[in-house]
Amino acid sequence: MSGKYDLKTEIAIIGAGPAGVSTALFLAKKGVPHLLLDKARFPRDKVCGDGLSGKTIGLFNELNPALVEKMSANPNHFLPSWGVSFIAPNGKGIELPFKKDMSGLKHAPGFTSRRIDFDDFLLKQINPQFTNLQVETELVQIKEIPEGLELELIQQGKPLTYLAKVVVGAGGTASLTARKLAKQKIQPQHLFAGLRVYYENISEMHPQNFIELHFIPEALPGYLWIFPLPDNQANVGIGVLSKDIKKKNIHLKTLLQKAIATNPVLARRFKNARAVSSVSGWRLPLGSIKRPLSGERYLLTGDAAALIDPFTGEGIGNAILSGKFAAKILAEAVQKNDFSAAVLKKYDRLLYDDLWSELQISYNIQRLVRFPALFNFVINRVHNNSRLQETFSSMFNDVDMRAKLRSPLFYFRLLFNLKGGARDDNVSI
Ligand SMILES: Cc1cc2nc3c(=O)[nH]c(=O)nc-3n(C[C@H](O)[C@H](O)[C@H](O)COP(=O)(O)OP(=O)(O)OC[C@H]3O[C@@H](n4cnc5c(N)ncnc54)[C@H](O)[C@@H]3O)c2cc1C
Repeated sequence: MSGKYDLKTEIAIIGAGPAGVSTALFLAKKGVPHLLLDKARFPRDKVCGDGLSGKTIGLFNELNPALVEKMSANPNHFLPSWGVSFIAPNGKGIELPFKKDMSGLKHAPGFTSRRIDFDDFLLKQINPQFTNLQVETELVQIKEIPEGLELELIQQGKPLTYLAKVVVGAGGTASLTARKLAKQKIQPQHLFAGLRVYYENISEMHPQNFIELHFIPEALPGYLWIFPLPDNQANVGIGVLSKDIKKKNIHLKTLLQKAIATNPVLARRFKNARAVSSVSGWRLPLGSIKRPLSGERYLLTGDAAALIDPFTGEGIGNAILSGKFAAKILAEAVQKNDFSAAVLKKYDRLLYDDLWSELQISYNIQRLVRFPALFNFVINRVHNNSRLQETFSSMFNDVDMRAKLRSPLFYFRLLFNLKGGARDDNVSI
């Protein structure tokens, strides 16, 4: 007991998903003590596609290269993945390796891992010297008082009150901190709705565990995915823009089941497959508009800050990136003993300077793929041209290259086979 409070802390991180745990790991690396709490008991499930991109792997290497070594050494929980297949609305596909030259790589450039395993693995990496971890502890109310933020919690049925100087909102899409302090509201035009079901025994999976994005016309600009997992299982799901659900009267579960049953390729591949879980859904807050990410005594990270890539739907890498920058600014704030909005605002600048152009590019691509004819055309061209496939591979690993997809000149060149377009002898678009 600390006066009228059960506990006093400088930093309280609410949520131990990838955003909260990575904030804790980066803070511990700087030697800054903090509290990390989560309402769940781990291991716990989280509805996701279970894909871990190159961005996640790169950030883990920055944090501690041993992390990726541990993942590689655990094939029961981590499946190495070497690329991605895009299947256009007309059914034509292209296969893009994650990296052009993989010869020098010590491990795969991407992985898939069920979130029940991945989040538990990540939580086990925390350093108890700096992180006071409290699970089964739910934040139910948050109040601003002159001394800081008063947190009302329920810990295994018992009410507690803590005092924090600053709070990191890492509670995901339904973050209380984002709703109460940042007054964030749901915006269906900047939100995907997704659902996921685990299957086993799907045939014709890629030998190098490529993840598959099937852009079926009914889901555009969203897609149906098949992500391979250990034990001959796969994460199968579908995501669509939330605003389209009402507008186009979409029933997501029916759409997924219908695609699997009627699409000729999928129907063949799912012939002997069996669902091994129920269907679960959740929301994906997209980083397609800039929002305030901090204020007086708080920062938002991960889904609470709505940082999911508007085209690919990836959020784990950006959640970890936000944790890295949050830790940097929090360490400075602790040193100055200043948790004002002015000091924490640096976090918004740092994160958006790094991420905003990438999010914008993805948002532009998301808007382009609403037109099936254009999408079919690009995939057709790339499909028939091996050099263009290489160029496209680098596009999905290199943001500057990806920016070219925004340019009308790119499509003009592609259309007329001009220099810098689709010609086999010159693909420097
Ligand atoms: C269908 C779907 C498919 C997706 N596929 C992918 C994919 O393949 N790859 C990818 O990179 N991203 C994917 N995403 C996005 C990804 O799941 C999220 O971006 C990621 O989980 C964000 O991490 P986070 O830590 O911000 O939030 P979360 O992972 O949601 O973690 C939040 C944590 O906060 C805790 N919490 C919440 N409220 C409280 C409270 N009041 N008190 C205490 N604790 C609380 C929760 O228990 C939870 O543990 C997908 C999302 C969906 C919905």
